[in-house]
Amino acid sequence: MAFDWEGITSLAYLTLIQMGITSFPIPHERIKFEDIIICSYQKYSRITELSIAEISCGHSLDDAYCIKGLRPNITFILYNKQTISSRLKHTILHEVGHIKCNHCKHGEKEEIEAHFFASQVNAPNIVIKEISKRGYMINISLLADCFGLSKESANKKLNYLNKYHFSHTNKYDDILLQQFSDFIVSNFPLKTPHYYDDSFDELENERRKWY
Ligand SMILES: [Zn+2]
Repeated sequence: MAFDWEGITSLAYLTLIQMGITSFPIPHERIKFEDIIICSYQKYSRITELSIAEISCGHSLDDAYCIKGLRPNITFILYNKQTISSRLKHTILHEVGHIKCNHCKHGEKEEIEAHFFASQVNAPNIVIKEISKRGYMINISLLADCFGLSKESANKKLNYLNKYHFSHTNKYDDILLQQFSDFIVSNFPLKTPHYYDDSFDELENERRKWY
């Protein structure tokens, strides 16, 4: 299965830029878009007087799904408030990922891509790289504390970084770092005697050859 990690990362970073997010974990209320309406099954049920069973019909196993065509040029994301409170943000961003990636079906590939999109919005690799360069050990507790990732999401992120390290660059890296610079500087003061500059990447590349 071939994945366009860079393309999906661009979509995720653009989403952060458009939302104007400047700190992590992303506040729930900041996740909003002009062309996407995000609504719980429970609220939609009150508005439409449909039952939750009717609203989730065909999606009874899903915590959320997106639906087009209710209004022109608007996609709805409906989610079950009762079942996903702890994973709400990831689940909603996962659905946003399906929309941004123009997915037409929910295949295995599409699911992996939507998860990757959500993980790059919640915890962008370039921000993690910058934190690492400032002398911090990237592990599950840092990812959970800093980005509010669940243990499962943090594990997936670490697996990805173990596999690819920070070798995937993106054209929006610099813009994103700029956007989060206050957050990074105030939460992650330099721990290293000297900031890793470009030699960091060379070190990383050297280190990869050791395996
Ligand atoms: Zn999905």
